[in-house]
Amino acid sequence: MKKALVALAFLALTLVSALLWRRINPPPPQPPYVETRWLMGTQAAITISGLPEEKAKTAAQAAFAHMERIDARMARRPGTPLNELNTKGEGTVSKELLEVLTSGLSWAEKSGGAFDPTVGALVDLWAVESGPHPPPPQMAVDAAKARVGWRKAAVDAATMRVDTGGTILELGGIAKGYAIDLAASELAGSGAVGFIVDVGGDLALAGARNSMAWRVGLQNPREPASLFRVLTPKAGAIVTSGDYERYFEWEDERYSHIIDPFTGVPAKKVRSATVWAEKAMDADALATAICVMGAEEGLKLVAANPPAQALVIDSEGKVWESPGFSQVAPTAGASK
Ligand code: AMP
Ligand code: MG
Repeated sequence: MKKALVALAFLALTLVSALLWRRINPPPPQPPYVETRWLMGTQAAITISGLPEEKAKTAAQAAFAHMERIDARMARRPGTPLNELNTKGEGTVSKELLEVLTSGLSWAEKSGGAFDPTVGALVDLWAVESGPHPPPPQMAVDAAKARVGWRKAAVDAATMRVDTGGTILELGGIAKGYAIDLAASELAGSGAVGFIVDVGGDLALAGARNSMAWRVGLQNPREPASLFRVLTPKAGAIVTSGDYERYFEWEDERYSHIIDPFTGVPAKKVRSATVWAEKAMDADALATAICVMGAEEGLKLVAANPPAQALVIDSEGKVWESPGFSQVAPTAGASK
């Protein structure tokens, strides 16, 4: 009897100490699930925390499938519905294409035409992706500019018909954001504790990683290998546009992939514009618009579209921040 009691006490002690040990030294947290793919001409990554691997994998695959579908519909390469629409000049479009185009035209109006989803003819003329070459002659710029203008395009939501009005529709400045939003809502419904959808540095995020805020690095636009700042953004989207990712140089002049629809030449006022917004599609359009408008006018557009906030580095390297930027995207480690 006495022996049994001693054994029981010993067992209880072992149990208590094992529990205590676990409390003091919790098991290492499960690392997040990460899947990367090449998407929309850039590296994309989905990071999911707080889901068992199999579930995380299924969720990531569904999220990537949304983004791949958007790319297949809205890229300018041959065979896509957008390309077909541009070739025919009019046609019936999918609900998704209609949604992105409608949002693009609405951002065109709000930005006074700085963001313009009909800018395709100028994008093609400057062919920034094709490497260094002499800039096109003014006559060619004028001819392409005559084919640009968001008021020319007509969208009929009821019949889902679009008339390009002789323009070339180009959704490169907004479709990525839309794709990121679709992926994010897929992950939001997956039961994950936190996630990041990152397509070439444009991202949507929610929740946390093992109760630590997600950290997002902002590249230095003149030294893209180094970080300008590390942020811990609130749930939502953070998107950067700039003249340092896609550009070519000719005779010491930098020609960026963002075209000023008013002059017909690549935008020069801004090195980078980072926008936080609830939706990546809005952040995407705003970031592109700011690159055309410049820091001062761009921040006015941001102020007119709450809760968006922005951080802009202008062509001189001066940093401009909207008043609430540090609240929605605090610098990592900075005291609140
Ligand atoms: P982002 O990286 O989001 O700033 O988008 C840049 C892409 O948007 C370019 O590669 C073009 O496809 C397209 N784009 C260029 N200029 C404009 C503009 N003024 N408005 C809307 N889209 C543009
Ligand atoms: Mg954009």
